[in-house]
Amino acid sequence: MDHLSHAHHVVIVGAGFGGLEVAHRLADAPVRITIIDQRNYHLFQPLLYQAATASLAPSEIAWPIRHLLRKRKEVTTLLALVTGIDKAAHTVLLNDGGSVTYETLVLATGALHAYFGHDEWEAYAPGLKTLVDATTIRERILLSFEQAERESDPQRRDALLTFVIVGGGPTGVELAGTIAELAHENLREDFRHIDPRKARIVLIEAGPRILPSFTESLAAYAHAALERLGVEIELGQPVRNCNAEGVLVGDRQLPANIILWAAGVRASAAGEWLGAPADRANRVKVLPDLSTPGYPEIFVIGDTATIDAWHGKPAPGIAPAAKQQGYYVAATIKSRLRGVASPQPFRYTHAGSLATIGKRCAIIDFGWIRIRGWIAWWIWGFAHIYFLIGMRNRLAVALSWLWIYATDDRSARLITHDEQERKRK
Ligand SMILES: Cc1cc2nc3c(=O)[nH]c(=O)nc-3n(C[C@H](O)[C@H](O)[C@H](O)COP(=O)(O)OP(=O)(O)OC[C@H]3O[C@@H](n4cnc5c(N)ncnc54)[C@H](O)[C@@H]3O)c2cc1C
Repeated sequence: MDHLSHAHHVVIVGAGFGGLEVAHRLADAPVRITIIDQRNYHLFQPLLYQAATASLAPSEIAWPIRHLLRKRKEVTTLLALVTGIDKAAHTVLLNDGGSVTYETLVLATGALHAYFGHDEWEAYAPGLKTLVDATTIRERILLSFEQAERESDPQRRDALLTFVIVGGGPTGVELAGTIAELAHENLREDFRHIDPRKARIVLIEAGPRILPSFTESLAAYAHAALERLGVEIELGQPVRNCNAEGVLVGDRQLPANIILWAAGVRASAAGEWLGAPADRANRVKVLPDLSTPGYPEIFVIGDTATIDAWHGKPAPGIAPAAKQQGYYVAATIKSRLRGVASPQPFRYTHAGSLATIGKRCAIIDFGWIRIRGWIAWWIWGFAHIYFLIGMRNRLAVALSWLWIYATDDRSARLITHDEQERKRK
């Protein structure tokens, strides 16, 4: 380590898809790295909805960052919340009053839910972003069935068995399809006083169709597949209020005990820390080399940045874009250290768009070919298993899926807090 103590210091904030890729790609560079994250785990967000719907255990989709980087002696991992940047002093500020100085800084702090100016809705309509979100949603869904089993008032029971998902993008579609299967298939024999098959799963999308990032025909296929699973889809009406009673859609009140928010995201606070130009979703408008205007030593990548690098359109807020940006920034840092020209401006390459509808059906758009149905589901499954980290998790997830596929049994159906613990929360 001593030989590295004077090496160029790269600080990476955020160990998500983008930040971790930078760290991996700098493995052969003469740098020392400090990677800072507010959580001690790297999360595979694309499978978060499965943890929220009792299909996978949280430990199957998250890994301790420290463990992932344990063999990299030049990397220091810090568990800390970043609250600001002092650009003049080249310093990252932490919430406990600590600070870390950098020579190169990479901000990869991702995104948060956006409630379009109604942050008060979050208490009634949680979004899905972290493991805590997933386990909280799982608990709320399962508790709703438990409370319905003991509820004598029919109206109240109906509300307990109504699950509203706001937002018809891939996450909303995946949540709706999986909750429908959970209610209509997996739980159907487990209760004595209610029939879980009668649970209503309502997907609300303000736009004219679900899955606007897919072609019309694939979206129409997904729409029909969801309806076959028993999902009610309401289009063209924005949600105007969320509260403890349910949602107001257009002018109509829909009583519901569970409302899940999958309608929008906004970038993390990195833009505010930097005082940099940002778009409406708070994403920093980065330069073609992904650095911040006026600060070439500060890069911003992934969900917290925006750049028209996809045939003139913004790179999408998905994991491959964050990883490609991480790869690019590592290459740029290495070029600068060698004193050679930086790579060409960043360009995003789109490999394809995927979404699942329940456990047997998916849609895939590779651009050159479009696939749907069970073949797409298997391709989706293999792709996700391939991108998971570590053989143990790949095997565990593959086994969980095969088990669910063959038996309809979702084993992660645990309510981990008892009543007294829930009251204390
Ligand atoms: C439910 C869901 C489903 C998704 N499904 C898909 C999918 O199927 N396919 C796909 O490609 N993409 C999907 N995405 C999007 C994808 O996960 C993101 O685009 C990707 O994670 C962005 O990577 P990132 O590195 O920018 O941020 P992230 O991966 O979100 O990482 C950000 C990291 O920064 C840390 N951080 C944030 N703020 C601070 C701070 N102040 N201090 C310290 N640390 C901080 C966070 O803890 C986190 O570890 C999904 C996202 C969600 C939420």
